[in-house]
Amino acid sequence: MMKGVIIKQSNTSNDLELTDLAVPEAKQDELLIKVSHAAVNRTDILARKGQSSYATNPVLGIEVAGTVVETNGNQFVSEGDRVMGLVNGGGYAEYAVMPANRAMIIPEVLPFSEAAAIPEVFLTAYQTLYWIGKLQERETVLIHAGASGVGTAAIQLAKQLSDAYVIVTAGSDRKLQFCQDLGADVLINYKKQSFDEAVLDATDGRGADVILDFIGADYWNMNLASIKREGRWVLIGVLGGNELEKVDLMSLMSKYIQLTGTLLTPRSDAYKAELSHDFANNVLPYMNNGSIRPIIDSVFPIDKVNEAHLHMKDNKNIGKILLYIST
Ligand code: NAP
Repeated sequence: MMKGVIIKQSNTSNDLELTDLAVPEAKQDELLIKVSHAAVNRTDILARKGQSSYATNPVLGIEVAGTVVETNGNQFVSEGDRVMGLVNGGGYAEYAVMPANRAMIIPEVLPFSEAAAIPEVFLTAYQTLYWIGKLQERETVLIHAGASGVGTAAIQLAKQLSDAYVIVTAGSDRKLQFCQDLGADVLINYKKQSFDEAVLDATDGRGADVILDFIGADYWNMNLASIKREGRWVLIGVLGGNELEKVDLMSLMSKYIQLTGTLLTPRSDAYKAELSHDFANNVLPYMNNGSIRPIIDSVFPIDKVNEAHLHMKDNKNIGKILLYIST
């Protein structure tokens, strides 16, 4: 048996509960991992409300760092290896299964308590900036929610891999200061100024080549104004709403904009394996030499998982919120 976190069965709340569960069985092509740390994601908060696509696994959690305890004959890793990566649910538990072909060996310099902050947000930032956004050397990128988990990863990737000109928005000067320390060039407090005007000011009226948009509806018009002709706009979150009242499609056409929406969690196992592999080859060397680092806001013991979720819901975190499970 093991401890794991499920949604409490009740009509009146959707609190999370640490409870006794059977250790999951790793099937062919899967590894069994003794989890040291898991991390909290917005999709977990949706899952507890029954609004996320991975809710088929009763145990929450989509990413872990831990030790391989069963390889099932897979050649990618050995028993005892320290690995991190995405799981198809089941991450908030002492043991989790992970498709073997997406496990990433943790760089030696990183403890589990940092490695668990990498998979979801760095893979998302890498996928959206490079696979989808096609960010090129020295282009301008506008990263909203700059101090978020994905935002802090994206700032570092854009600076280190592409020497991009990085413009960020965030809701407090404390968060913006952190973004600047990570390398962001232009800092916009969206609560104090209209970000589209600031983006145009910072780019001599040209706008951003790439926008990483976590906000959606509330930012639609300002993003349209902020994007350069032929810009790539990647929609990856709808924190500011998912319904638009009136859209003038001509405004997309006249600027030749490529607008792409994406979700990582529902992608296929093959897609996640390829992305993890590409990321491990291209980015982990930067983590080994310390030029890119996981950003940890806080670590909660697993029995304080409800507090960890509240911390994220209240927008208090800079970088990742981790759950400590075992040594
Ligand atoms: P996070 O660390 O929890 O940070 C989110 C931040 O967004 C908040 O701290 C807040 O910072 C800002 N924010 C919240 N509501 C806002 C609003 N209405 N308007 C403007 N800013 C707002 O989140 P994360 O884990 O990095 O995830 C960021 C977003 O990416 C989430 O929407 C998540 O669902 C999405 N995501 C998508 C994918 C995908 O594949 N599509 C994958 C991973 C994450 P301020 O204090 O600066 O406002």
